[in-house]
Amino acid sequence: MPVPLFDTETPLADLRPIILERVSEVIRAGRFILGPEVKAFEQELAAYVGVGHAIGVANGTDALTIAARALGVGPGDEVVVPSFTFYATAEAIAAIGATPVFCDVDRDTRNITVETVRAALSPRTKAVVAVDLFGMPADIPAIRAALGLPVIEDAAQALGADLHGVRAGALGDIATFSFYPSKNLGAFGDGGAVTTADDDLAERVRALRFHGSRDKQTFEYVGYNSRLDEIQAAILRVLLPHIDAWCDGRRAGVQAYIDAGLGDHLELGGAPLGATPAWHLYVVTHPEADQKLARLNDAGVQARAYYRVPLHRQPAMEPYVNGRQLELPVTDELARTNLALPISPVFSRAQADEVVAALAIE
Ligand SMILES: *Cc1c(COP(=O)(O)O)cnc(C)c1O
Repeated sequence: MPVPLFDTETPLADLRPIILERVSEVIRAGRFILGPEVKAFEQELAAYVGVGHAIGVANGTDALTIAARALGVGPGDEVVVPSFTFYATAEAIAAIGATPVFCDVDRDTRNITVETVRAALSPRTKAVVAVDLFGMPADIPAIRAALGLPVIEDAAQALGADLHGVRAGALGDIATFSFYPSKNLGAFGDGGAVTTADDDLAERVRALRFHGSRDKQTFEYVGYNSRLDEIQAAILRVLLPHIDAWCDGRRAGVQAYIDAGLGDHLELGGAPLGATPAWHLYVVTHPEADQKLARLNDAGVQARAYYRVPLHRQPAMEPYVNGRQLELPVTDELARTNLALPISPVFSRAQADEVVAALAIE
């Protein structure tokens, strides 16, 4: 049996009738932008994450842009970002005229650390973006305590994770989510959110997503038209109550890999003490990752590489790297050696055995 990289279909099967019902209700009510569904979803997401505020926006990239703007990041400012992440993490910083400064990550957790951020600081550093990569929470409390800089938590891959009992989305000064369909909580289209415990930041985010206005009459900032729409919010409200069960399923899937003997064939990463990962992706490494990928794909296992070209080597990021002696050895190594294996809320031991059997063929 082929093993898919994601399985977004099976967990949704039982929910489809109720989703269709909720979508019909929104269409019947005829309210499509910033209505009761978005408001209720924002309250439910904030309660789940454990912060005072969640603000729905159009996608996870806008969430980052708007979060950075709300923190006051702008032209002339530097923002430290990992190079081993999805492009949008740095793109959002560059898009508002600030300079992304790339830092390295830890080999085991694949996340930024106090030390890797420290190496990228300058007097112009205004903030740090910490990505909870692949659903592993970054040690943001340590970074905030050691460096005293505001941290934007890019939690796009981490809804359902926690660190010492604090949920992803509540670890930074402000955090961002994506509801892109393949994410742990996926809309039926694009969607995103910003979460924060800070009342003033929340106010600014609310204004920025609506053209920089609080009252639709006075325009305080040059903002954005970036809203989560009512239909997507109605769908996300059906799905959100299932996120813990789905993340438990992902964690059971990772345990199945370990029990099946995956560690005999590939190097598994590590989690920091006190972390409960959400495993958006299950990423392992091997010195000959491309060979392993070819073998898996030949056996019908949909494994793939992520971020083979890290951000500090992307053509569009050239102007920000220019002139800096950037050495990010761990990033370069992970970019070359990583492979993402199939994982989903319904990933089974039989599927884990199949993946491990494919790796065992010499
Ligand atoms: C998906 C993702 C984003 C962007 O989210 P979109 O909703 O696609 O704009 C940003 N950062 C990370 C780490 C992501 O995985």
